[in-house]
Amino acid sequence: MHHFVYCKGVLNAEDVPLPEIARDVGTPFYCYSSATLTRHYLVFREALKGLDATICFAMKANSNLAVLRTLADLGAGCDVVSGGEFEVALRAGMPAAKIVFSGVGKTEEEIRLAISRGVGQINVESAAELDTISRIASSLGRTVRIALRVNPDVAAGGHDKISTGRKEDKFGIDWSQVPDLYRKARTLPGVAATAIAVHIGSQITTLAPFEAAFTKVRDLTLQLRAEGFTIDHLDLGGGLGVPYDHLSNTQPPSPAEYGDMVRRVLGGLGCKLAFEPGRVIVGNAGVMVAKVIVMKDSPTKKFVVIDAAMNDLVRPAMYGARHEILPVVEPPMSPGAQPVDVVGPICETSDRFAQDCRLPPLKAGDLIAFMTAGAYGSAMSSTYNSRPLIPEVLVQGARYAVVRRRPSIAEMLALEQLPSWLADEQDAKTG
Ligand SMILES: *Cc1c(COP(=O)(O)O)cnc(C)c1O
Repeated sequence: MHHFVYCKGVLNAEDVPLPEIARDVGTPFYCYSSATLTRHYLVFREALKGLDATICFAMKANSNLAVLRTLADLGAGCDVVSGGEFEVALRAGMPAAKIVFSGVGKTEEEIRLAISRGVGQINVESAAELDTISRIASSLGRTVRIALRVNPDVAAGGHDKISTGRKEDKFGIDWSQVPDLYRKARTLPGVAATAIAVHIGSQITTLAPFEAAFTKVRDLTLQLRAEGFTIDHLDLGGGLGVPYDHLSNTQPPSPAEYGDMVRRVLGGLGCKLAFEPGRVIVGNAGVMVAKVIVMKDSPTKKFVVIDAAMNDLVRPAMYGARHEILPVVEPPMSPGAQPVDVVGPICETSDRFAQDCRLPPLKAGDLIAFMTAGAYGSAMSSTYNSRPLIPEVLVQGARYAVVRRRPSIAEMLALEQLPSWLADEQDAKTG
């Protein structure tokens, strides 16, 4: 459920017509709905009722400060995967104790930053990293809770590129090495190895792989406890999928079904649980709005060329993802719409959002909305082709605010300079 619906024939974000925002900020832009974000967070929280659970939003899905603040105000923590994300999370108002630091290659600087600022937990990805964390924490006079991120060898994830829990993936610690590493961790200063973490992939649309992984985590918990270890925190990662394309029939399990399964598999252990949902919280809380530049016909194809491109929303080019596309102004019922390809202006064939897609008749200047673009949309964008990052707008009821503005070319260039041997007097004056 989301709050992007037609009202008097015009697609609204909550109570704001999208064309109004387009007039104000120009296209393309991302638009997020506070009510949808809030709803998703509360639905997820409700699904976990009865469990001692913290929701640590996976901010790599959407790192906008206003989105994070909205979730922080609801009580969310954060799952971060870089020092930069850690700093942004703190700036957004996330308490450090509710921040989990994940990621397969944390630098010493990042680890030091996180520990010195009081990070809640670090998820360890290798034996060598365990030593590094112990050394840094000891030198700071701290003890940090760690989880070994275990690799349960479970195949899951909506696409090969986002499956992370198989033996051959780079993530997590191989199952066979896990008990020994806990034994070792117990002897190290500066770390409290009282947690287990698992994250098996993203855009997972059935419960079976989660259940397989969580069952292994339960067995491991019991095994380690039998050896005298304290295991009182389990971090179950994220990965619950969302429905993307109204044409395909994949309906992922609901948070409630997911929660029931967690209660069944892990409820009796008396552990504090952490969850790291990203996509399921922000996915359909955001849309990307673009404008048709030109309609281009060839003998074999009709192309809708728009002003958004793969640098703004890379999921179709990168994962073959399909986003539902809606015309912002609802067309009159028009039977027999011709199939079109919706493409961006970048010189790459992969700069294509949809292939042979049936859309109502469009013309230059029309607005279209890419649905379910709130996760891994803006967060993965780039400035390829010297295209400025597109603005982000947050709506709440009848009001909206630009929460990240579009930079000017001058601002983008401010980071660059010519070396002395290439600069001429003109550059010296203007640069
Ligand atoms: C990407 C990631 C998540 C979030 O995944 P979603 O599919 O967006 O829920 C959670 N935890 C870790 C460690 C991740 O890498």
